[in-house]
Amino acid sequence: MRSHLLNDVTAESYRRSVTEGVERVANRLATTRRPFTGVSADELAPVISAIDLDQPLGNASAALDELESVYLRDAVYFHHPRYLGHLNCPVVIPAVLGEAVLSAVNSSLDTWDQSAGGTLIERRLIDWTARRIGLGPAADGVFTSGGTQSNLQALLLAREEAKTADLAKLRIFTSECSHFSVQKSATLLGLGREAVVPIPVDRDKRMQTVALAAELARRTREGLVPMAVVATAGTTDFGSIDPLPEIAELAGQYGAWMHVDAAYGCGLLASATRRHLLDGIEHADSVTVDYHKSFFQPVSSSAVLVRDGATLSHATYHADYLNPRPTVEVGALPPAAPGGAPPVPGGLRSSMPNQVDKSLQTTRRFDALKLWMTLRVMGADGVGQLFDEVCDLAAAGWQLLAADPRYDVVVQPQLSTLVYRYIPDAVTSPIEIDRANLYARKALFASGEAVVAGTKVGGRQYLKFTLLNPETTTDDIAAVLDLIAGHAEQYLGENLVHAS
Ligand SMILES: *Cc1c(COP(=O)(O)O)cnc(C)c1O
Repeated sequence: MRSHLLNDVTAESYRRSVTEGVERVANRLATTRRPFTGVSADELAPVISAIDLDQPLGNASAALDELESVYLRDAVYFHHPRYLGHLNCPVVIPAVLGEAVLSAVNSSLDTWDQSAGGTLIERRLIDWTARRIGLGPAADGVFTSGGTQSNLQALLLAREEAKTADLAKLRIFTSECSHFSVQKSATLLGLGREAVVPIPVDRDKRMQTVALAAELARRTREGLVPMAVVATAGTTDFGSIDPLPEIAELAGQYGAWMHVDAAYGCGLLASATRRHLLDGIEHADSVTVDYHKSFFQPVSSSAVLVRDGATLSHATYHADYLNPRPTVEVGALPPAAPGGAPPVPGGLRSSMPNQVDKSLQTTRRFDALKLWMTLRVMGADGVGQLFDEVCDLAAAGWQLLAADPRYDVVVQPQLSTLVYRYIPDAVTSPIEIDRANLYARKALFASGEAVVAGTKVGGRQYLKFTLLNPETTTDDIAAVLDLIAGHAEQYLGENLVHAS
């Protein structure tokens, strides 16, 4: 069994099995004709259940053969131009390369003595991101597993920095279109359901600052404490960007922590033409970025950034076995032996650069390496160009939808989502229109021809394109709209027959 362990003796077998795996996946990607096969959970479950996990195949080739039928054949492929579903991106090759390296070396970013250069690379990327945001010289942050964790950590800091320890009094103000992780975080932080005050949005699904001002004033009058204002830079459904400068101003007036959830909109940080859409983000106390959404990185890759790095100490705990509290001052390290490791930056007098001191996680992936490889190969401009392309595509798609009498389209996109619904010619009830759209989405998924998402607007069923693939064209969008119309009409046709 030692032969399966990755060590110097097995490096050759590692090379062979990884090469074979890469070969297969590359072939898969090159030959997928649809984003999905339409397989149902009922069809796939027995295939996976039938695998006897206590009867190993013994070699990678056989396991890869088997993987074809249990996973690869029926996976949902985000790289396909007609995958228009959730906020998932096709990934860039340098990042996938980084993924292969980081898994094999398997650094863990909790402490310096498990990561060495990995820690410094992560720190450089945090500084790089903070600088692009404009957070100032004291900024810091840490990579996380995703926007949900980043939002949780930001709100934890906000809670600890709040002007009262009376949790029942704390309030978080956020638009009604913000991500549900804000509500989840409030609950996890012991604040309860009523802690989140939803602020209405305008026609473009941006937070109404007049309403925010009114709510801040009202809750303060009631003796409640504004703990945080959470602005969204790119709402999950509409890609709308809240008015950041005005929100910063109001948060400042009330001494509330300003968090900007840029999980989706962070791609603008690399855009040559749209960076101004994030103006005002530099006033934030904390920012969430999801590189695995708009930087074309594989899951997971995300970060939380803070204006004042000292606030991260609210997540600092010490353990003797991991990151002992620095008690004794240790003198400077002796000079490194020739060929030996260079001294730790800052010497041992400052505590070791242990990222666990800033993180909610302990053992943690070196996800930063993927972004590092991306920037070293393509540069930020390369990433920004890809994101600009999908924003341009969304603008073109909006024109298509706005000119199409079969469809009602909601918001002219700032980023890369389109929310719309099919409206039949025949007069029918709003419920039937909802059902026709739901049916169309399901039927499309089952056909595997394309994948679209769904959401509700004003209580009515809508459909959604999340455009993150620069390979998608307006022809793809037009073709998918025809497919949806076909499915919706089929539903309405059958329903009419049954009703009469
Ligand atoms: C996707 C998203 C999140 C959650 O991020 P995960 O990486 O899925 O945990 C948070 N906020 C917004 C606005 C998002 O779009």
